[in-house]
Amino acid sequence: MQRQGEPSFRESVDLMFRRAVRLMDLSPGLEEKIRVCNSTYTVRFGVRLRGKIETFTGYRSVHSEHMEPVKGGIRYALSVHQDEVEALAALMTYKCALVETPFGGSKGGLCIDPRAWDEHELEQITRRFAYELIKRDLIHPAQNVPAPDMGTGEREMAWIADQYARMNTTDINAKACVTGKPPHAGGIQGRVEATGRGVQYALREFFRHPEDVAQAKLSGGLEGKRIVVQGLGNVGFHAAKFLSEEDGAKVIAVIERDGAIVDETGIDIAALRQHMDGTKGLVAGYPHGRHVADGASVLEMDCDILIPAAMEGVIHLGNAARIKAPLIIEAANGPITFGADEILRQKGALIIPDMYANAGGVTVSYFEWVKNLSHIRFGRMQRRAEEARSRLLIEELERLSSDKGLGWTLAEDFKDRFLTGSDELALVRSGLDDTMRTAYQSMREVWHGRSDVEDLRTAAYIVSIDRVAKTYRSKGL
Ligand code: NAD
Repeated sequence: MQRQGEPSFRESVDLMFRRAVRLMDLSPGLEEKIRVCNSTYTVRFGVRLRGKIETFTGYRSVHSEHMEPVKGGIRYALSVHQDEVEALAALMTYKCALVETPFGGSKGGLCIDPRAWDEHELEQITRRFAYELIKRDLIHPAQNVPAPDMGTGEREMAWIADQYARMNTTDINAKACVTGKPPHAGGIQGRVEATGRGVQYALREFFRHPEDVAQAKLSGGLEGKRIVVQGLGNVGFHAAKFLSEEDGAKVIAVIERDGAIVDETGIDIAALRQHMDGTKGLVAGYPHGRHVADGASVLEMDCDILIPAAMEGVIHLGNAARIKAPLIIEAANGPITFGADEILRQKGALIIPDMYANAGGVTVSYFEWVKNLSHIRFGRMQRRAEEARSRLLIEELERLSSDKGLGWTLAEDFKDRFLTGSDELALVRSGLDDTMRTAYQSMREVWHGRSDVEDLRTAAYIVSIDRVAKTYRSKGL
């Protein structure tokens, strides 16, 4: 939703792009080529439901084809419109470049309230939408590979993959036409949690740099940090769960569509999610903490870390000045408008930008795509060989200890962990962790290395635009 006096989401992304490009040495022609969205396909299709024909409007935008396939999720929401899909497609271009996944940027959306339809109806609608995109190669393993986004998940991706396979019966790489599928339909372990897990890894990396932490007027690590999360869907749920269960952080408020739950003693995220599963996604009625009906006001609550993980434009000119969090990590795409970003920066708030913070999803989608193209699960060839080699080492240490009378005993827990070879989930998490660390360091180098770059967002844009520009130049543009 565009608020009065604010640029649209796409204009906001453009303004952020331009702010970065002013600090770069690009020819105006190349700058324009990178900025613009290459194409947006709009489709209106009918599906016979409940005895009458319902017409739906869907979009697939391709922002940049400097690398192919292009990649980006499909969103189901009533608010979907062309401007939003184009903004999200542009962010995908920059995100893929920043985390070095070899894709161009794309995004799709269907104007629908997914809660208004039952599962069978949603399947019919999804298959029909997929049919329209597949026949135009807007879903294709080598050209355009969607993934889940707001309102879609594994189930929809499995329908899309099946629809593609039905229409391309001899394509041996059919499964690679979409990512975010359930493991039994060609998916990969760790994809569902990937974006939230990436937010956790991003924060862990941030807290490894005390100078950066000090810039956010914080100190120490994640332990004990007070967190406010907006949106307990796929991204927000996993981020909040991992940070509270594994890093000792305390989630003191969760903001959802029907208000917020606030509990200074820390919210049990799994329990709240379970409650929401029984109330069609409402937080009201949760027996712990207090319910605040005006959820948006809780964004302004005093806390250490604010994680907007719901949708774009929630921090805007109207509330930015009242936001107290010194550190904001954009788990959602575009939660801070361009104007709000300026206000927050002037106030000294530190923002970890969306194109980095939520890149865990596309990173693990990349692993899934590679798995589908190689037709083999990660770790299948190496796991037992790795375990056998570790066993050799343990046995040799135990032999030496006994032969030389050294009396060493290796702790059973250590032996168990050392002897367990990496399965697919462990490899996926390792690859994601490495990606999040490396990408943070590339942004950080620009942020600290240049006196004219004041924030991580501008640094992230500079790193990505530079990479996209290099690809275009090597193509002769
Ligand atoms: P989701 O549909 O699973 O969850 C969104 C949650 O936000 C829901 O629980 C919904 O009730 C809540 N919500 C919606 N509007 C709200 C509002 N106004 N106030 C409070 N809560 C609200 O979606 P998701 O996949 O978790 O995506 C969330 C954001 O993360 C989006 O911006 C999306 O583009 C971005 N993202 C998602 C992925 C992914 O892998 N799913 C990857 C990268 C970025």
